[in-house]
Amino acid sequence: MGREKNLEKLRDGSLFDLIIIGGGATGCGVALDAATRGLKVALIEKNDFSEGTSSRSTKLVHGGVRYLEMAVKKLDRVQYNLVKDGLHERGLLLKNARHLSNRIAFITPLYKWFDVPYVFAGLKFYDILSGKQNIGHSRLLSRKETLRRFPGVKSEGLKAGVLYYDGQFHDARMALSLALTAEQKGAVITNHVAVTGLLKENGKISGTELTDSLTGETWQLKARGVINATGPFVDRIRMMDNPDVAKIITTSTGIHIILDKRFAPPDAGLMIPETEDGRVLFVLPWENHALVGTTDEPAELTEHPQPLDIEIDYLLRHVTRYFNLQVDRSDIKAVWSGLRPLVSDPKAADTAKLARDHVIEDSPDGLLSIAGGKWTTYRKMSLDTVDHAFKQFDLAAPKPTCQTEQLPILGSTNYNEKGDLELINNYDFDPDIAAYLNRTYGDQAEQVAKLAQKGYGARLVENHPVLEAEILYAARYELAERVIDVLARRTPLALLDTEAAKQAAPRVLEIMAEELGWDEQRCAEEKQLVEKRLTEAL
Ligand SMILES: Cc1cc2nc3c(=O)[nH]c(=O)nc-3n(C[C@H](O)[C@H](O)[C@H](O)COP(=O)(O)OP(=O)(O)OC[C@H]3O[C@@H](n4cnc5c(N)ncnc54)[C@H](O)[C@@H]3O)c2cc1C
Repeated sequence: MGREKNLEKLRDGSLFDLIIIGGGATGCGVALDAATRGLKVALIEKNDFSEGTSSRSTKLVHGGVRYLEMAVKKLDRVQYNLVKDGLHERGLLLKNARHLSNRIAFITPLYKWFDVPYVFAGLKFYDILSGKQNIGHSRLLSRKETLRRFPGVKSEGLKAGVLYYDGQFHDARMALSLALTAEQKGAVITNHVAVTGLLKENGKISGTELTDSLTGETWQLKARGVINATGPFVDRIRMMDNPDVAKIITTSTGIHIILDKRFAPPDAGLMIPETEDGRVLFVLPWENHALVGTTDEPAELTEHPQPLDIEIDYLLRHVTRYFNLQVDRSDIKAVWSGLRPLVSDPKAADTAKLARDHVIEDSPDGLLSIAGGKWTTYRKMSLDTVDHAFKQFDLAAPKPTCQTEQLPILGSTNYNEKGDLELINNYDFDPDIAAYLNRTYGDQAEQVAKLAQKGYGARLVENHPVLEAEILYAARYELAERVIDVLARRTPLALLDTEAAKQAAPRVLEIMAEELGWDEQRCAEEKQLVEKRLTEAL
């Protein structure tokens, strides 16, 4: 473990079965699937794990209530199967990543009587579709109970509510844990290394050119197969293979804003199934704050999309519409944007039409691209991709079939839901810190606690449970290479509270510099980069 050791394994000239490009939900999932089958895998991420779309999702593990409605209305079998798969995968994710995920009750407030049977029947169907993976039964709520469960929701004209259940998870840590679990299973994983070219022998792809994003060093890595799992950037890699290839990705942005926790009770989210322009809106509790999302605006391809004013105004307008609480820009603690990789199937009759499922494509020279889908279904997408890779690249492995259905990810194996009490007893943590460490690190929380005991037990910043010990842990055991990796992905601080992240940055820099032996120049570079990310766009 450790970046240098991993880089050595990528430089020693050995032949890999698979190089996976992209360390988001898709790439990390594919790496884990392939490594658990016994393949020799290299996972290459240009920035940090999940620095792209995969840390900017609504953090829901769901089948998609709205998709079900569309499936039923249009008698659409593909859409119906997607919801069914999503619900099945939801159940597996909640079991295999127990510390990073939880069931959450959602309330849909209803303002028209005729909506009551319609929405209730739809959500009952959602329960039925989840079959054995059902996580709770939907029920009708009276007006009074709706207001009790979700105080603040607009009471004027409220007739009733429907309560249903879905899953919620910490997306950035999930991607990291998938990558680290893949590493435990033998994969060589690295962040901050970019694929800058594809190698070909006799017209077939035989590997990649790699460039260390931190040092600029370039070298070559050979493999039997190369998988392009770069989300919004899939076409960039496809064009490295064939500059004339037709694009299959279009991008749109979705932003989220973070408000004070008073906008969402700790145990329930609000789901507005159809806003003025026909979108779904969520307001949900996340890490002791309220998360509101999302939007859908056409966007250019960029690594760090900037939230647009129209998107922020749209969300604030809707919060005001559905709440008795006043809200304006001064209430926003953080805002961030993610790019949706919308994919069209190059094999479809109408290639301009967006595919609803994920798409797997082989190029004539052997590049395998996987795109689309959603976080919830990363495991199923990975399974399909690795099954495909076996045939496409003629691979052989000790276990040719998928092994991840019952595989707990790092932190989840011996996770104890009541582990926070042990952390309080053994390490004297405040209850909020103990609960946060337990749900963030699962059965690894004690490792962080031990570092806290060695002089790193202070809160990184007031009013947040994040500890100094986590910086050390992230740099030592979780491949954090930049200050922003710690602030935006190893911990949720930058996504929750921009000012708190700004305050914490100098201490993060200090601890990382000491741990990783950074010189003055590197420290100056880090200082500049973290300021840029926290001021412009995460
Ligand atoms: C606003 C929004 C909300 C969403 N909410 C949900 C939700 O609640 N639930 C859900 O299930 N799904 C949700 N999704 C969908 C989900 O987030 C995405 O489907 C998923 O994160 C895509 O993952 P990915 O790995 O394909 O792409 P990414 O996460 O973008 O990963 C691609 C990676 O490839 C890397 N890369 C690019 N080029 C190179 C290169 N040359 N070399 C090496 N690496 C490279 C990038 O740096 C990036 O990290 C949401 C999406 C959006 C936009």
